[in-house]
Amino acid sequence: MAYLNERPWDRDSNGILWRRMPSRPGKGKPQYGKVHFLRQRQAMDALLCQVCGRPAGKDATADGLLWLLGENPDDLTNWPAEMVTGHPPVCLSCAWLSVGACPHLRKQYAAVRVRRFSLIGVHGVLYRPGHPKPVPDD
Ligand SMILES: [Zn+2]
Repeated sequence: MAYLNERPWDRDSNGILWRRMPSRPGKGKPQYGKVHFLRQRQAMDALLCQVCGRPAGKDATADGLLWLLGENPDDLTNWPAEMVTGHPPVCLSCAWLSVGACPHLRKQYAAVRVRRFSLIGVHGVLYRPGHPKPVPDD
């Protein structure tokens, strides 16, 4: 699968093709709960705050970087062994902003600091050839 006029930023460093989205930093209103694929990817790669785009490490403590999870803290029974998130870290001031503004996080959230983490994959849909268009594959 490819774009006819593929551009260098259409794929990540692992060759994964990403859906295109317009990128106009600083324009428009935040859409909490909606992921901008390019910014999400850049934030995960460089550990940038998912809200302001500045390095999340500026607010790191000895306990690590701050992450907000849309989970009930009481449900984190397998913490941290099976913890996986598709959301980049946040800086402290943006964390307070997020839990007040994001409809999902207003319901529940867990704020965790993490010292060790790794990027392990891409969450998405794999397609196989089909006619007239590619078909999602299991
Ligand atoms: Zn921030």
